[in-house]
Amino acid sequence: MKTIALYPGSFDPITNGHIYIAERAAAVFDEVILSVLLNSNKNSTFSVKERCEMAEESLKHVKNIKVDNFDGLLIDYAKQKKASVIIRGLRAMSDFEYEFQMALMNRKLAPEIETFFIVTDPKYSYVSSSSIREIFHFGGTVDNVVPECVFKKLIEHFKINN
Ligand code: ADP
Repeated sequence: MKTIALYPGSFDPITNGHIYIAERAAAVFDEVILSVLLNSNKNSTFSVKERCEMAEESLKHVKNIKVDNFDGLLIDYAKQKKASVIIRGLRAMSDFEYEFQMALMNRKLAPEIETFFIVTDPKYSYVSSSSIREIFHFGGTVDNVVPECVFKKLIEHFKINN
């Protein structure tokens, strides 16, 4: 039976750090579903549709990664997708506490689903969607932290003359 892994997150927008984690997960599991969280839509910079499109474009070179969106409890969605694994990325100790708590809570809800953590590449350890949004919001730009299609979308969204 093939092992399906979910990689859930806001991906607002997807960064090279996310892509690194998704690629490594795809090398281990049969299928990876990068799952864009819908219910944070209200406060998000990009719509779910835009976030999914950017993720699809950035990961089209990896055949066993699909992009989808979901709403509600992750565990319910995982069962619906017949996924037995949840992937999360770790950048620093500061990620750990929140991730640890969430993994334990998800295990309590669904003991048959396993959370796997993948450690980031040190060159992405400081990269977060929120810091990127903030830089572009104030008219700055940064290279090599997001794919080209995301860079263009950020420029367009924040109306920066590059
Ligand atoms: P959430 O809002 O659920 O934290 P994010 O889109 O911010 O969603 O992140 C999704 C997952 O990707 C989380 O596990 C997060 O730790 C991980 N992640 C975010 N940025 C990086 C990065 N630069 N390197 C590795 N993992 C990352």
